[in-house]
Amino acid sequence: MIMEREGGENAEAKETNACYEWRFAFPDRSLKMDDRLYLFIQLPCPGFSRANSKIQISSRSTSYIMRALRYHGQKDIRLEEIEEPQVKPGWVKIAPAFVGICGTDLHEYLGGNNLIPRPGHPHVLTKETSPLTLGHEFSGVIEEVGSGVSDLEPGQNVCVQPTLYCNECDPCKRGLQNCCDQGGFIGLSGFGGGLADHVVVPKSAVWKLPSNIDLELGALVEPLAVGYHAVEIAPIPHPIPSDLPILVLGSGPIGLAVIQAIIAQCSSRSFPPLIIVSEPSPTRQEFALDFGAHHVINPLRTDLVSSIQSMTRKEGVTVVFDCAGAQSGLEQAMKCVRVRGSVVNVAIWENKAQVNVNDVVFGERAYMGAATYDNGDFGRVLRAMEHGRIRPREMITRIIALEEVEEKGFRGLIKEKDRQVKILVDVTGRGRKDSGVGYLD
Ligand SMILES: [Zn+2]
Ligand SMILES: [Zn+2]
Repeated sequence: MIMEREGGENAEAKETNACYEWRFAFPDRSLKMDDRLYLFIQLPCPGFSRANSKIQISSRSTSYIMRALRYHGQKDIRLEEIEEPQVKPGWVKIAPAFVGICGTDLHEYLGGNNLIPRPGHPHVLTKETSPLTLGHEFSGVIEEVGSGVSDLEPGQNVCVQPTLYCNECDPCKRGLQNCCDQGGFIGLSGFGGGLADHVVVPKSAVWKLPSNIDLELGALVEPLAVGYHAVEIAPIPHPIPSDLPILVLGSGPIGLAVIQAIIAQCSSRSFPPLIIVSEPSPTRQEFALDFGAHHVINPLRTDLVSSIQSMTRKEGVTVVFDCAGAQSGLEQAMKCVRVRGSVVNVAIWENKAQVNVNDVVFGERAYMGAATYDNGDFGRVLRAMEHGRIRPREMITRIIALEEVEEKGFRGLIKEKDRQVKILVDVTGRGRKDSGVGYLD
């Protein structure tokens, strides 16, 4: 690749890493061009929507372009070239490494703007609407820190807690930022996202990865924190005693995160509480057993309520974690949970559900929700991973490249819902040779 400046100066960068290395040809990493100078760059990177595109950077610009996978609307995501974000005081610039694709991304893709603000209705905190960059479950490497950021430095491996909150509303003032009246997410509400070459996030969103947690695992912290939080706020004793029977509805990514959190938060890892999982998919049943469930029940073939009764000496379970969000599961959950037990909903529902309130009343049962994670959960999940109380690597069922997100990521999750748990996007393309894990298919 040749970069030319008027006046004969030129610089070469290795073609293979052109999109990462071209700017290092300029030692001060800044392009200072006067009105007469133009920079013509030929970028042969596979991720560019227009291969070998000729990009003209205007003379006044000191910005760079980068790749970003942006959501434009229903079934419309595009790998585009956009301006690279600049670090600012109190913020941190990160080169995303691995990004998990989540059910929420898929809902936005299939159903159109839901969480993602639609044009004309900008998010209160980011002031942005679609098109915007996707990717809210991600790890990366710090590239630059803004002034006032003293405890982070370039080169560190990190993961990002994507929650955005106002710090002014009543929930925020009570320390419940996950329930902020104006809450949002990096990667869904604006401020960029993980599916890009660079992202700039508030310092408070950045968590350093312990040395024994690699960047692939770092991308799993966000979904694990969802499960960890649900188990943590469930109205049951903590640490969870061995004699406490638990039912988990659904063993997709969040159900598996809940199972791992139960084991991480139990009083004795040698004698964890009885974990029963209701899941129709044979592959997901296998995953549930691999991550520590004791029994899996196919609710389409076996009567869940009578199975639970016989496994718990007719007492029922103390708590149900609903990670499925289906009417039939909710009705059964109410009949599986013992008197004064509780149903904790972690699922996002597509439709309104019906609850027989008399099941709640006569059994003095509780029904409650768990929303994402609080500001300490990322730290607790990282510590649990660091000390081996959570070992989530088997959740990664596929690693794909940035340009494969729509075909192998979104459509892959739709077509092979049962086989896939977590599909990670290897943003830099370096995971293939650096991680030793390689691409799984
Ligand atoms: Zn997610
Ligand atoms: Zn708030």
